Amino acid sequence: MWDCLSCKSENEIDPDIEEGQILECLECGAEYEVSCLDPLAFEAIDMAVVDDDDDADPDGDDDPWD
Ligand SMILES: [Zn+2]
Repeated sequence: MWDCLSCKSENEIDPDIEEGQILECLECGAEYEVSCLDPLAFEAIDMAVVDDDDDADPDGDDDPWD
């Protein structure tokens, strides 16, 4: 288990966890990057610098099922 630094919730550890892997808190959605496996250590990812507009989904009003 690992405790979210933001909301203090306990999250399960992926059995295939690797260094550099991203941990996501199921409770609040905060993301952390694993910096060490033994002992487990991780650092909060600064969401402010993430800017990925490349995968914008042009989902308009053209719903074929409507
Ligand atoms: Zn959390």
